[in-house]
Amino acid sequence: MKIASFLALSTLITTPAFAEETRHVGSHEHGVGQLSIAFDGTQIAMELHVPGADIVGFEYAAESAEDRAEIAAALSVLAQPMVLFVPSEAAQCSVIDADAALAGDDDHDDHADHDDHDDHDDHDDHDESGSHTEFQAQYLLDCADTSALTEIAFAYFNAFPNALEVDVQFVSDAGATAFEVDRDAPLLDLSDVN
Ligand SMILES: [Zn+2]
Repeated sequence: MKIASFLALSTLITTPAFAEETRHVGSHEHGVGQLSIAFDGTQIAMELHVPGADIVGFEYAAESAEDRAEIAAALSVLAQPMVLFVPSEAAQCSVIDADAALAGDDDHDDHADHDDHDDHDDHDDHDESGSHTEFQAQYLLDCADTSALTEIAFAYFNAFPNALEVDVQFVSDAGATAFEVDRDAPLLDLSDVN
């Protein structure tokens, strides 16, 4: 939103390049990912949505072998939740299921078997100026002692240098809490909500 305010004040807003940036903010904000974390018994379900720009630095449909290799490499990293989002060791978590896909790129249908894309609001941007893509991942962890899960370290920011922030929605029996985890302070402190 900082970028939007800046652009609103800027006389450059009428140039095509900046108009494009303004439209970006309405669909997804580059640099900002969304992560939901839901506790249910010993299981923790996580869902991650991140702009392609944050993960591979581009959002056009992969054109070269290099582009495709970058996407494949990113997907394999995104399929390792406990490498990216490191839970407290005492919680003794393990990965039950992990799945990562690229959405919004017509050349890839690996996400076709998912049914949760109706909240994906950037499809209007598929036009001559290039599409917006988003990496999506779903994780299921099982933790022997969820009460010991007091923090999650976001090594994610080391893996993806373009990622600046993750907006976290944490849900448990006690309710929902929103957090913002930044590159500068890449630790989610759950001690107050768990
Ligand atoms: Zn975008």
